[in-house]
Amino acid sequence: MSEMSEMSEIGEIGEIGEVSEVSEANAMNTVNTVNAVNNKNDLRLAERSRVVIPGGIYGHMAVPGFSGTLPQYMAYGDGCRVTDTDGNTFIDFLCGWGPVVLGHRHPAVQRAVDEQLARGDCLNGAPPVMVELAELLVDTVAHADWALLAKNGTDATTASVTIARAATGRRKVLMARGSYHGAAPWCTPVTEGVTPEDRAHLDYFEFNDLESVRAAAARAGDDLAAVVVCPHRQDVHRDQELTDQGFARGLRELCDRTGAALILDDVRCGFRLDLAGSWEPLGVRPDLSAWSKAIANGYALAAVTGTDALRDAAKRIYTTGSFWFSAASMAAAVATLTELRETDALERIARAGRRLREGLAAQASAHGFEVIQSGPVQMPLLRFAGDDDFSLTRRWTDEAGARGVYVHPYHNWFLGASHTDADIDEALERTDGAFAALTRR
Ligand code: PMP
Repeated sequence: MSEMSEMSEIGEIGEIGEVSEVSEANAMNTVNTVNAVNNKNDLRLAERSRVVIPGGIYGHMAVPGFSGTLPQYMAYGDGCRVTDTDGNTFIDFLCGWGPVVLGHRHPAVQRAVDEQLARGDCLNGAPPVMVELAELLVDTVAHADWALLAKNGTDATTASVTIARAATGRRKVLMARGSYHGAAPWCTPVTEGVTPEDRAHLDYFEFNDLESVRAAAARAGDDLAAVVVCPHRQDVHRDQELTDQGFARGLRELCDRTGAALILDDVRCGFRLDLAGSWEPLGVRPDLSAWSKAIANGYALAAVTGTDALRDAAKRIYTTGSFWFSAASMAAAVATLTELRETDALERIARAGRRLREGLAAQASAHGFEVIQSGPVQMPLLRFAGDDDFSLTRRWTDEAGARGVYVHPYHNWFLGASHTDADIDEALERTDGAFAALTRR
């Protein structure tokens, strides 16, 4: 790892460490203080959890420094609403952190899961639905000649890198500084317990800066195996940044010229923006794509899709897991992708996103605030201009949470096909109150 990238990793650890300290204090003292809603069960669960789970909660859920009003525990979901263990219901703009693309407990997906569970989930051989799903993925994803299935996004990004290395016989992998590709040692943003050797063959470039990619590729020389990139810049703690078409095309050309694999990490955006792949509108096709999140509307599933040129390498690597052949989540994925293909679900998601963005922009300016709304409308993020430490933004998301709107101050939100115009308008009525509360303060 270069000195520069090492420094940036350390910078990130500091940031995340700080946030989790806040979250600890938050979980103990300040949850739901804004409107003092009923949160007894939530606090009790947090207390029990701290005894038996290190830190009480792990990973991205361990940083609810994001809220003083949102619960840590959820009891159930229905469409675009989630209800916590104390019975408080929220209009949900996090959609299970992305997976819930059609709405919680979508009937067609539930039916498919129930029917499969009645036959068994974890059998000694692969379920027939695996073949159906792989066929559907190959038919849906523009660059795909084949598909491999797994459970989590990290499985898919890690397998993609392994396939690229097996195919090229090379070691170096380039990724954008600060981008998230999962929680395995090679890519976790927190390097506690990670050795430099785990990342020995990674190097970093700046997103949307082709020159920095070319420089990193030059450092890799003839050892360049792959470039891994997200469809747009979606790092936490900063505005999202859309991808310049020239950057995407430049990456494609660089990979073609060097023989490296272009890996699109479509885990977060996939099947929410464009079913054929999130870079289809830019006219750039990757060699490998990693998918998860929205693929099965909340059931645990991931996939790698690839081109024929990488089929043999994908055959040679060893990647699997005890639950990688579980049938129910594959049935959920077939139902989800079918619904996405055969209905106007993606148009509805975009429409809901536009309505929300326009409504929030009008509200902010009516209340005298300048806000920056970034990213695709289907995966929005709002930050108050000049609010570099997100403190004002967090006060606003707290006020929204206290009014039953589930939004995040520094991780992108997600819209789903179950958000109707009426849901967006109801959410906007509540966020208007959140802006008004900031003005009063
Ligand atoms: N890549 C991206 C872009 C992601 O957003 C995520 C999850 N947030 C991952 C990879 C890892 O996926 P998972 O958490 O399912 O392992």
